[in-house]
Amino acid sequence: MARYLDSVPFSGIIRIRDLMYSIENPYRLDQGDVSFNAPDSVKSAMTRAISENRTHYLQTNGLPRLRELIAAKLRAKNGVTEAEAEHVLVTNGGIHGLYMLFQALLEPGDEVVIPDPAWPPAAGNILAARGIPVGCPLHEASAWRYDLDELESTITPRTRVLYLNSPNNPTGGLLTGADLERIAAIARERDLWVVSDEAYEDITFEGEHSSIASLPGMYQRTIPVYTFSKSYAMTGLRLGYVSIKDQTIRDRAKKVLFYTASNIASVVQYGGIGALEGPQDCISELQAELRARRDLFYCGLAEGGRGALSGAPPAGAFYAFLRIDPGWTARTAGLAEAGPQRPNPSASWRMTEYLIENGRIGSVPGIDFGVNGEGYVRFCFARERHELIGALESMKALFAS
Ligand code: PLP
Repeated sequence: MARYLDSVPFSGIIRIRDLMYSIENPYRLDQGDVSFNAPDSVKSAMTRAISENRTHYLQTNGLPRLRELIAAKLRAKNGVTEAEAEHVLVTNGGIHGLYMLFQALLEPGDEVVIPDPAWPPAAGNILAARGIPVGCPLHEASAWRYDLDELESTITPRTRVLYLNSPNNPTGGLLTGADLERIAAIARERDLWVVSDEAYEDITFEGEHSSIASLPGMYQRTIPVYTFSKSYAMTGLRLGYVSIKDQTIRDRAKKVLFYTASNIASVVQYGGIGALEGPQDCISELQAELRARRDLFYCGLAEGGRGALSGAPPAGAFYAFLRIDPGWTARTAGLAEAGPQRPNPSASWRMTEYLIENGRIGSVPGIDFGVNGEGYVRFCFARERHELIGALESMKALFAS
């Protein structure tokens, strides 16, 4: 029995999901899922694959055509000019890519520097590989970017990997070109691997996303991680990929891929081919609609969140990571007693529970993303406009009273 797994936490998002099931007509702004549907190019490729009986075992690393298309995309769109089809491993979503990489890269006790706040499965997957996640704060005052001197001082002789996530979940912060140059210099100087989680590569509102793997000499020490979940609204289909130049690490990752999945579902991989071969306007449509939803949400928040929640619109991703007004925290101090029903009496849990119980609004407490996330809550604005409007009206009623 692997007792160490008992100390690998489940994300608090699971507890919120359970709380949300007990609410009638909830506003599900807790879930990081888009309300869009997968494009026809994906659906027709999958339907065709089923009717052609493409339902058998496949190559472990993925369908050759899919890997070729992915490598071409990495070269043309991400600027990773050395990417080749043989570097690509197709995964069961981005989360599986991260699991495989940390298993392949880490020795027990190795440290991985992660943003704080960060998407909880990043730390969970590091712990599952017996590594140690070490948080480095992202600062709201600098649009949720690192203080790079602080990042450098977080590195110790045990640090093996820098995990980057830009645009970032939950803050929406985007690392600039200058940030990436400096981080690349640090990685080279300290001889570190970089795992670059680019799940939200297509969702930017201010500034442009670029991959650190495209910088000179970086691809050999950087493993970029991508997913079809967000860009092509394929969250439930579970399709992602990583690209690993280093043969030793790639061979190790391939073993993890084989022993955890054998290969990724054949029909889904054909869907991925459809996505990459098909028209890409679905991505620009998604971007335009998400920008409109972001603006709608922040416009309504100015009134609906008054005296309780505030923050600047994010540069990327589709989350509003909002500061809890200290006045609200002080006014609601009586709700803070811990108990079996309320194991987490932090301000961010208190706000989350308050919003669910009194406003039917789902959110995720900032503390779930790291200690530096305490005092904030995350809302997903990739939901339908009517759901956002309903949540904002409910918030207004709640905080005005
Ligand atoms: N990375 C980040 C930062 C995410 O927020 C997510 C999903 O929410 C993923 C990776 C992976 O998503 P999936 O496993 O659906 O591909």
